[in-house]
Amino acid sequence: MSSLSYEALKVFEGRAAATSGRGKDPVNEPMIRHWCEAMGDTNSAYAGADPTAPPTMLQAWTMGGLSGHQGRSAAYDELFALLDGAGYTSVVATDCEQEYLRALRPGDEITFDAVIESVSERKTTKLGTGHFVTTRMDIRADGEPAGTHRFRILKYAPAQRQQAANAPMPKSKRPRPVINRDNAGFWEGVARHELLIQRCGGCRTLRFPWLPGCNACGSLAWDTVEASGEGTVYSYVVMHHPPFPAFDPPYAVGLIDLAEGVRMVSNVVGVPSDKVRIGQQVRLEFQWVDEELELPVFRAVEGMTGTAEGGA
Ligand code: ZN
Repeated sequence: MSSLSYEALKVFEGRAAATSGRGKDPVNEPMIRHWCEAMGDTNSAYAGADPTAPPTMLQAWTMGGLSGHQGRSAAYDELFALLDGAGYTSVVATDCEQEYLRALRPGDEITFDAVIESVSERKTTKLGTGHFVTTRMDIRADGEPAGTHRFRILKYAPAQRQQAANAPMPKSKRPRPVINRDNAGFWEGVARHELLIQRCGGCRTLRFPWLPGCNACGSLAWDTVEASGEGTVYSYVVMHHPPFPAFDPPYAVGLIDLAEGVRMVSNVVGVPSDKVRIGQQVRLEFQWVDEELELPVFRAVEGMTGTAEGGA
C-alpha cells in the first residue's frame, strides 16, 4: 500500500515534538483535589497543609485542555502527514511510562520539551499495519527536572474488514498478561500454582493487584502472603458481546472476594455462566487457557459435584 521507506521515518528520531511548552497553570491544590477524588486516592500526602501532587499527575500539568496543545513542532506534524499520506490514517495510544525525579508542590511552574524518541519499523498488529511512534516529554518544575513521560502510539492502516469476514480467522490466543518489574512476582507465583497477595512492609495492609507501593501508608517495602484459594463472588458480569476472538461467549467474569480480604478479577468456571451468583462460594484453581498461558480462575464450589462444564 505504501512506498514509504523506513529511512524516511527514521530521520525524525531525535527531532523535537514540542518545544518550550509551559503548563497552563502552576501545580495547584484544586487540581490535586479533583484528581484524588476521581481516583479515590485518600493518601494524606496529597492533602493537608503542605501537599505534594500525586506523581502520576505528571502529564496532567502539561495538558493543553480543550483549546489544544501548545508548542507542537513542525516535525511532529510533518511525521504525521507523512504517515497519513502513506495510508496509516488511524491512531491508537498504546502505552505510557513515567519516571519521577522530584516531588511537585503547589506553586511549581511547569515547563516541558518533547522529542520524537523513536519510530518503529513497520509492524503488523491485530488492528492493522503501521508504525509505533514514541515521544519522550521532559518535564521541569521551576526549571528543575521533575520527570519524564514517554508516550507511545500506533499510527496504522486499519486491517481490511472483508478479510475477517471472508476468511475464517485462525483461533486467536488470549491476550498475554503484561509482566513488568512491579508484578513479575505475581506471575512467578502463578507458575508455582501460588496466588500471591502483596503485604505492605510498613502497615501490613494486603493489596491486590500488585503495586509498587502501599496506598494506605506509602511504604515501598512488601512481602507476600499466599492466598488460601477460598473466595466468594462479590460481583460478576456475563460477557456476550462484543465477541473477542480468543474467548467463547457467554462466559462469566467475576470480582472475587478472597478469604484474605482483597478482591481479584477472574473467570468463574465450573457452572454455566447464567448460574453464577453473587455470594457464591468459589475455589482457586489454575487453568491452561492455551499451550503457553496458565491463569488463576475460580471454580464454583456448588458446581463441583456435578459433571457440567461451565461456559467460561
Ligand atoms: Zn502500608
